[in-house]
Amino acid sequence: MTGNDVDVVVVGGGIGGLSNALALSRKGLRVRVLERAQEFGEVGAGLQIAPNCTRILDRWGLLGEITSLGVLPENIVMKDAVDGSVLTRLDLHDVERRYGFPYMVIHRSDLHGTLLRACREAGVDLVTDVAVTGYEQAAGGAVAVHGGGGEFGGVVVAADGLHSVARRILSDDEPVNSAYVAYRGAVPFDRVAGLDVHPKDVVVYVGPRCHFVQYPLRQGELFNQVAVFESARALAGEADWGTPDELDAAFERACGQVRAGLPLMWRDRWWRMFDRDPIMNWVSGRIVLTGDAAHPPLQYLAQGAVMAIEDAWVLSEHVGSAGGDWDAALAAYNEVRTEHCRRVLTTARAWGELWHHDGDERLWRNGVLRERDVHDYTYVDWLFGPTALTPEQEPPMFPARVP
Ligand code: FAD
Repeated sequence: MTGNDVDVVVVGGGIGGLSNALALSRKGLRVRVLERAQEFGEVGAGLQIAPNCTRILDRWGLLGEITSLGVLPENIVMKDAVDGSVLTRLDLHDVERRYGFPYMVIHRSDLHGTLLRACREAGVDLVTDVAVTGYEQAAGGAVAVHGGGGEFGGVVVAADGLHSVARRILSDDEPVNSAYVAYRGAVPFDRVAGLDVHPKDVVVYVGPRCHFVQYPLRQGELFNQVAVFESARALAGEADWGTPDELDAAFERACGQVRAGLPLMWRDRWWRMFDRDPIMNWVSGRIVLTGDAAHPPLQYLAQGAVMAIEDAWVLSEHVGSAGGDWDAALAAYNEVRTEHCRRVLTTARAWGELWHHDGDERLWRNGVLRERDVHDYTYVDWLFGPTALTPEQEPPMFPARVP
């Protein structure tokens, strides 16, 4: 086993793990990251990051770099996927004025690469090709066990994603299959230049058991698309589900703008969509869950990576103010983050249901969304505002309206 040469061992070098490593090293701690892959990296294409995330990236001194790599879209526009009509929108200039920080879209590898570089500069020990297989409590800390022995840290931060090994210490739950699958694709912008797309907006087409997302990336050089649908074969219990033939069938009723985008999706890989039921304790001794290991959501609120970054910031702030008392810091983190993330997980499920309505329910949804005042922030204030450090700071989800 490696000796007492680090204060913190972080398991997993995704966006969540690197954020924890950076945040804790900024508090003066010696941090080692163990990543099972041969190289650090991110798979996938675009990521939306809301003001509750860009606020934290600013505190870490990374917002300028991130902004130079991403895109600040003008609006989030929601449209009906069947008839293509506009249902509602968020004015993102107004969002930035309201929350003080921008809503941004960025290539995952650009965000991950920025965090990796910042970790290197902060002196984080970044280790690849180490798969953690178990955890042990130890005097004054915990051990992340792997094929080569184990790594001791005063704390072990588990950021090992949806299939977290560490989570098994706290729960015997399994990932919940939504029966939905996502196809992604980022292409040079000139491939869509002749199509009816919004080059400066995030557009979400919501449709019967499907939705389709489009937005620019890399200062407009790339155009990102995500096609999500419910798989009939998954519902029938078949093992082979989410295949490209199902993609085409799922969008048969979609409007021309959506169907024009489908041929540009990557068809050689797809992402089956699982979340987990919320659990309200993420701490066992000196082992703590963060990111998707703690709270993997369905992605409909675009808050999964954002929550992982918030976790890192909240944990590090409590570590900073607890004066070396790890148990106090972990308890304070657990107290505020579990409830916030529970809300996000359950709201993301409900949001998905609203998006995917058909028949009369679709017409009802469209009517409600068209009536919405575009400057009404009732449903996003609790997400986009400053990340709470204590339960008392956590805003109510949907404040009662004064008649
Ligand atoms: P992961 O990204 O899963 O990283 C875990 C890391 O741990 C990996 O590097 C893995 O190799 C490593 N690892 C795993 N097991 C071990 C082990 N045993 N030992 C060592 N290393 C290990 N979120 C947003 O905020 N905005 C969005 O717009 C958004 N869009 C999304 C769209 C789709 C289609 C999907 C599927 C998700 C989306 N998300 C979005 C969610 C977001 O991608 C995740 O919530 C986020 O990436 C979780 O980060 P993480 O670091 O916690 O976990």
